[in-house]
Amino acid sequence: MSTKNKFSTRCVHDGEIKDTMYQGIVSPLFMSTTYPWFGGDAEKKPYPRYFNTPNQEFLSKKIASLENGEKALIFTSGMAAISTSIMANVKSGDHVIFQEDLYGGTRNFIKTEFDKYGIEYSFTNGLESEDFTNEIRDNTVGIYVETPSNPLLKIVDLKSISSVAKENSIWTMIDNTFASPVNQNPIDHGIDIVIHSATKYLGGHSDISAGAVVSTEKNINLILNSAKNFGGNLSDYTVWLLERSMKTLFIRVREQTNNAKLLAKMLEENSNISRVYYPGLESHPSYLIAKNQMKDFGAMMSFDLNENIDVYKFLKNLKVIKPGMSLAGVETTVNFPMKTSHGLLTQDERDNQGIGNKLIRLSVGIESYKDLFNDLDQAIKNS
Ligand SMILES: *Cc1c(COP(=O)(O)O)cnc(C)c1O
Repeated sequence: MSTKNKFSTRCVHDGEIKDTMYQGIVSPLFMSTTYPWFGGDAEKKPYPRYFNTPNQEFLSKKIASLENGEKALIFTSGMAAISTSIMANVKSGDHVIFQEDLYGGTRNFIKTEFDKYGIEYSFTNGLESEDFTNEIRDNTVGIYVETPSNPLLKIVDLKSISSVAKENSIWTMIDNTFASPVNQNPIDHGIDIVIHSATKYLGGHSDISAGAVVSTEKNINLILNSAKNFGGNLSDYTVWLLERSMKTLFIRVREQTNNAKLLAKMLEENSNISRVYYPGLESHPSYLIAKNQMKDFGAMMSFDLNENIDVYKFLKNLKVIKPGMSLAGVETTVNFPMKTSHGLLTQDERDNQGIGNKLIRLSVGIESYKDLFNDLDQAIKNS
């Protein structure tokens, strides 16, 4: 990108719309769904579903800048960004390789839609680059990854995956939601297309549904052609709200990450916790890869409570920390994958995926670390 400002400055200022009428400090909101087809800026023909209204275009510049990409598109949900970006890059007869563990909605999309269109897919049997190489066929067109992954915070090595793809002249796509652009910029490691559920860290206040994709201008123009057909554009009002939220992205996620690093250590030292899944712990099997490719380790983690702890008692005992299906808001939330995201799987399937019956996922917020520590500590002690 043209701008040379530091990340936190770009969060605040990139993609601002200048208020030329009143010189107000924040971007004006343009809600028009129709613009002239002659005179004025008729060349552009802004229209919400063309993804080119003023607020869409300017916020896209902020998101592209934060991911070190050339261009971005904003969608109505993370799944709209994921499904549109994938469908724009496949046709009947093609084959795509997916990382073994993926966000449930993405896995469901592949399993329910691909067969209908004659698109082949395979899931890897592991996270090493050989696990991806092993799945390559003559008709393979791309590789899709998610790192850190949900809910076990597994890590894949972005540089080695992107070189496998380059050797085979195929594309790479990543769901970068868990890291956020604050903690990981996959384009810097050779990944082609970066996707976010902006419902999570980009929005950050648990009150916006949105998605985004970032890549080169060429790739984004290709995705845009499909995006106009699928129609997953975000309302300009919500685009404006998302811009407002993203001004604080850096300080929010930095604080969340700092809290998470302390909490992960505290949980690892607690004798009533049998295992902590957090890429910032040296005990994490991919700690060194994470250290290498992430700017910091993020604010999502999971842990297994000991057998003697009553999970429901633990969840009820929490006072500051709330139960939450989703994640990444300024408030700390807990999720119980066995009953929620992975509740429909059989015990065998859960065992295979490493989803234990005492596994808790923690989305760390911006509250005081001391209060979070005390809340977890008392809830564990009294369960
Ligand atoms: C939530 C989430 C999605 C889907 O995003 P929506 O905004 O709910 O459509 C995709 N990937 C990850 C990792 C997520 O956490």
